[in-house]
Amino acid sequence: MANIIDGKMLAQKVKDELKEKVANFKREFGRDITLAVILVGENPASQVYVKNKIKATEYVGMKSLSFYLPENATEEQVSDTVKQLAEDKSVDGILVQLPLPKHLDENKILNLIPANKDVDGFLAENVGNLMLGQPCTVACTPFGVLKMLQSENIEMSGKNAVVIGRSNIVGKPMAMLLLKENCTVTICHSKTKNLKEVCKNADILVAAIGRPKFVTRDMVKDGATVIDVGINRTENGLVGDVDYENVKEIASYITPVPGGVGPMTIAMLLENTYLCAVRNVK
Ligand code: NAD
Repeated sequence: MANIIDGKMLAQKVKDELKEKVANFKREFGRDITLAVILVGENPASQVYVKNKIKATEYVGMKSLSFYLPENATEEQVSDTVKQLAEDKSVDGILVQLPLPKHLDENKILNLIPANKDVDGFLAENVGNLMLGQPCTVACTPFGVLKMLQSENIEMSGKNAVVIGRSNIVGKPMAMLLLKENCTVTICHSKTKNLKEVCKNADILVAAIGRPKFVTRDMVKDGATVIDVGINRTENGLVGDVDYENVKEIASYITPVPGGVGPMTIAMLLENTYLCAVRNVK
């Protein structure tokens, strides 16, 4: 029976530690740390994410600025908002909630964020520096997964890590972080052959696919650590990418959904905002 890695509890710990660091920052530099969030349109999931992010920002004592633009906002309107925040010295981090409405060019808008305010770690400069092993902002979700592995002292060096999913925001940066920890990393995706055999070889298996209960017990090695990044809305509520009930019988560590990687993602967004503020003030 696996140990459950409690993301909610760990996220709370990260946020409580941040509360102190933010207060110290204010004392030392005499100003707030500010995170600006831009939401375009009325995507219900995005609205919930933004609400939770704002709540968490305020919880750790950071200042939260929010900009709500209508679904039909023009590229110019969104760009102008980002540009204004990019120039504002009191703003430490800028987050544009994705996905943007279809008529907007996501890349063009994200690229207006200066790399030192890119709290999501999505920009080429941050992604490139992650690859080069240079200081950078790491995408929140994989950063949170790394923190979870470290918090349980799970040995990574020399272990086989398999990441299912190759997205720019989860799969690729996750693989890079595991490589940095000296794992032997395999990235799988929708065209991977013999997925089951590859997964079965994993000491650490990270699922970031977006398909409910995709990773079944027969794909998991006895004693593996299984990290479930997936968030799938089904008739039975939120479900991960891992068949949790059955996989937890043979894994040594597993993350639940909800209450696993999700809360860590928000905690690491705040950690990233703090790190940006510290880097920018120096
Ligand atoms: P994505 O759609 O961009 O990428 C999915 C990846 O899964 C792709 O690389 C694809 O190749 C791979 N894939 C699809 N079908 C496959 C198959 N049959 N076999 C093997 N690989 C397959 O998704 P994403 O943005 O990386 O998100 C993945 C999941 O993680 C989603 O459920 C998303 O909601 C969730 N997510 C959670 C958090 C969090 O905070 N917990 C953050 C980001 C994403």
